[in-house]
Amino acid sequence: LVIGAALLGAGLVLARVARRTAGTGAGPGFVRFAFIAKGAQQLALFGSLIGWLPAIPVGIEVPLDGLLTGLLGVGIVVWLLEEEQHRLREAARQIERLAFYDPVTGLPNRQLFVERLRGWLARLSGGDGTGALLSLDLDRFKAVNDRGGHEAGDQMLAAISDRLLQSVAEGETVARLGADEFALLLPGGGDAAGVARRAGAILERLREPLQIGGHELRIEASLGAALCPAHGVEAAVLLRKADAAMRRAKAAGGGRAEIWDAARLDAAREPFALERALREGRLGEDLELHFQPIVRSGSGEIVGAEALLRLRHPDRGLLSPPEFLFAAESAEVSDAIGQWVLREACAAVAAWRRRFGAELRVAVNLTARAFEDRQLAAKVGAVLAEFGLPASALELEITETMALLQVNDPAPGLSELRARGTRVAVDDFGTGYSSLSYLRELPIEIVKLDSSFIRDLGRRPRDSRIVGAVVQLAHGLGLEVVAEGVEEEGQMAVLEMLHCDRMQGFLFSRPLPRGEFERLLATAVPFGGAGDGRLNPA
Ligand code: C2E
Ligand code: CA
Ligand code: CA
Repeated sequence: LVIGAALLGAGLVLARVARRTAGTGAGPGFVRFAFIAKGAQQLALFGSLIGWLPAIPVGIEVPLDGLLTGLLGVGIVVWLLEEEQHRLREAARQIERLAFYDPVTGLPNRQLFVERLRGWLARLSGGDGTGALLSLDLDRFKAVNDRGGHEAGDQMLAAISDRLLQSVAEGETVARLGADEFALLLPGGGDAAGVARRAGAILERLREPLQIGGHELRIEASLGAALCPAHGVEAAVLLRKADAAMRRAKAAGGGRAEIWDAARLDAAREPFALERALREGRLGEDLELHFQPIVRSGSGEIVGAEALLRLRHPDRGLLSPPEFLFAAESAEVSDAIGQWVLREACAAVAAWRRRFGAELRVAVNLTARAFEDRQLAAKVGAVLAEFGLPASALELEITETMALLQVNDPAPGLSELRARGTRVAVDDFGTGYSSLSYLRELPIEIVKLDSSFIRDLGRRPRDSRIVGAVVQLAHGLGLEVVAEGVEEEGQMAVLEMLHCDRMQGFLFSRPLPRGEFERLLATAVPFGGAGDGRLNPA
C-alpha cells in the first residue's frame, strides 16, 4: 500500500512539475507513466492481498512488473540524455549570446550588426530597395562614467538602448558597436528628407531626462547617416560614411544629425586615405609599428614585445587601432595592413635576436578576418622563413570571442600553427565568456589577463583572489599567464606573489617606436641599478 501510494504521488508530482517546465521532451512523460502504472499495479496487488480484488495470476503479475520496471529504467535514461542535450544547447546559446550580443544592453554587438548589414545588402543587390545606416555616439558620456561610476554608465547605456528600441519599427535593427557607440539599420528609408526626420526624432527622444541612481541626467548624442544605395552598397563603405558624418556632427558641437555629404567632408583625407594609400603602394608610409616590452615576472627581464599598430594622421597625430578602426576598412585594406604588421614585426624580432639575444619574441594581434583565413599558417610560415626565424619567435594574439567561435568549428589553421610551433594567446581574457575549460579544447597556450582585473589589484582583495584562481587554473591546464595593463608597483608585487608568468604595462614601458625599444633593450641593465632585477619604470 505504501509503495503504491508513494509511486502514485511521485507520478502526480512529476506531472505538475512537467506542466510548469513545458517542453522538456519525452523522458519525463515516460517516467511519469511508469510511476503511475507501477503505483496502480502495487495498489492492485495490495487489493488482491486483502481480498478486495481477485488474485492476479503470477503469469500476468511477474511479466507486468518486469515491463513497468523496464519502462521506468528506459524513461530515466531517456530523460537524462534529453537533459544533457538540453544543457549543451543552452551552453551553445549562451556562448552565442555572449559572442554576438552586448551584455550591458542585450543589443546585437558590432559583429552581429555587420553580419546583418551584409545580409541585408546581399538581399538588396540587384533590386531597387533602399535603406539608411545610422551611426550614433553619445556626447560627453565619459563625464557620466567619471562622475557616477561604471554602474551609472551602464544604467545610462541600458536606458539609451531602451529608447532606441522604442524609436524603431519591426525589421529595423539597433546595435551597440562600442563603448558609447550605437548603430541603426533602417531598411526602406533611403531618401534624405525621411532619414533626417527619423534622425531628428531619435535625438529628440534621447534628449528627454533620465533617472539614474536618483539623479536626473540629460544626455545628447551625435548622429551620422549614410544612405543606400546613394552612398554605397558595401557594408564597410556605408559604415565609414555614417561614421564620418557622425564625427562631423560631433565636431559641429554635438546634439545634431548629419547625412553623409562628400562635398562637405574634407574628401582629401578621411575616410578613404588608407584605401588610396594602398592603391598607390604607399600604405606603409602612414603606418607605424610600436613595441611594448613584455617582462618576465620576478626578474623583470625583457623577454619580448607586443607589436601595436599606429596610424600617423596629418591632423589628429598618432592614432591607435580603436581610433581609426582599420578592421572596418575594406577586406583588401585590412588584409594588407595585417600582412604589413606581420612582416614589420618579424623583421624587428629577427634584428633583436641577432643583437640582443636569441630568445626574444614578438606578439602580433590578429583581426578576426586574418584568423579565419585558411592560408594563415602558410602565410605566417612564409614570413618566418623570409626572416630566417623559428616559429617560436612569434606569438599570435586573438580575442576571447574569436577563440570561442572556434570551439564548435575549429579553424584548421589553428592546429597547423601549433604543429609548426607558433603559440597562440587569448587576449583580453576575462572580458567575455571566460571559461578556461572551453579554451582548453583549442590549441591555445597563453592567456592574457585583461587589464580590468589588474586595475584594483592590491586594493581589492577579491581581485587578487580571482587572479590567483585564474593563474592556478591556467597553470593546471598548462597555459602561461600574461598580465596586461600593469601600471603600479603594488600590482606587480601581487602578480609576482600569485606566480603570474609575464607582465606588460606602462609601469615597465609604454609602447615605443622600434628605435626606442631597441635602445631600451641595449640599456635595460638589471634595473634599479643595484639590481632589484627589474626594468626601470622610468
Ligand atoms: P590590446 O591587444 O589589448 O593591446 C593592449 C593595449 O593596452 C594597447 O593599446 C596598449 O597601448 C595598452 N596598454 C598597454 N599597457 C597599458 C597600461 O599599463 N595601462 C593602460 N591603460 N593601457 C595599456 P593600443 O595600442 O591602443 O591598442 C588597442 C587595441 O588595438 C589592441 O588591444 C589590439 O586589440 C588592437 N591592435 C593594436 N595593434 C594591432 C595590430 O597590429 N593588429 C590588430 N589586428 N589589432 C591591433
Ligand atoms: Ca593584444
Ligand atoms: Ca589585451
